[in-house]
Amino acid sequence: MTVEIRGGRGLEPPPLPRRNLSEAMKRGAMCRCPRCGKGRLFDGYLKVRPVCETCGEELFHHRADDAPPYFTILILGHVLISVVIGVEAAFRPPLWVHMAMWIPLSTLLALLLLRPIKGTLVGLQWALYMHGFDPNAEDDYALMAGEQGGSNGA
Ligand SMILES: [Zn+2]
Repeated sequence: MTVEIRGGRGLEPPPLPRRNLSEAMKRGAMCRCPRCGKGRLFDGYLKVRPVCETCGEELFHHRADDAPPYFTILILGHVLISVVIGVEAAFRPPLWVHMAMWIPLSTLLALLLLRPIKGTLVGLQWALYMHGFDPNAEDDYALMAGEQGGSNGA
């Protein structure tokens, strides 16, 4: 019997079933579990539930990190700046009117967008088996701890 070794890690695990990316992202945007679409994704405003209350999917594997605020600023900046410029060009309001309009509006829109954008990113990570969502992946934290231990010892 021949044992095939690839990549120096032994036999590769069988391929994982394909997940529907757009459906998972849509469910995440609705702040629902990317797997079942029924369980709530968040526990509070932005804290992702560790496990789906409906289907039991482990959600703590996500690594959204700074991506949700990055995409919120990217989207909101492009939309709001063009509106600000349009209002300035059309009406030329005094500076205090700009301040009174755009500061509360940008704050409100950022708070409204942040949650669905984070949910969308968690759905994307789940559908693509990123990070700990891949059952064959090595633990990111264990790898990081190993790297830190090696650098401290050297
Ligand atoms: Zn679920």
